[in-house]
Amino acid sequence: MVKEPTVKINKICPTCFAETGYSIVLEENDRGILVCPKNPQHKFKPNKEGFLEKTEAW
Ligand SMILES: [Zn+2]
Repeated sequence: MVKEPTVKINKICPTCFAETGYSIVLEENDRGILVCPKNPQHKFKPNKEGFLEKTEAW
């Protein structure tokens, strides 16, 4: 049985992708927040469904 791929694979910064078309892989910090290495103000938190929500938290 083949397992469905999960969203746990590399997460791309949706803001950078929307603005520039570049796929910037987000880096997870020690608080579980995904931070964009190009623009540190791009911060996301994965919600229960696995979607990225913009967050202001560090
Ligand atoms: Zn970004």
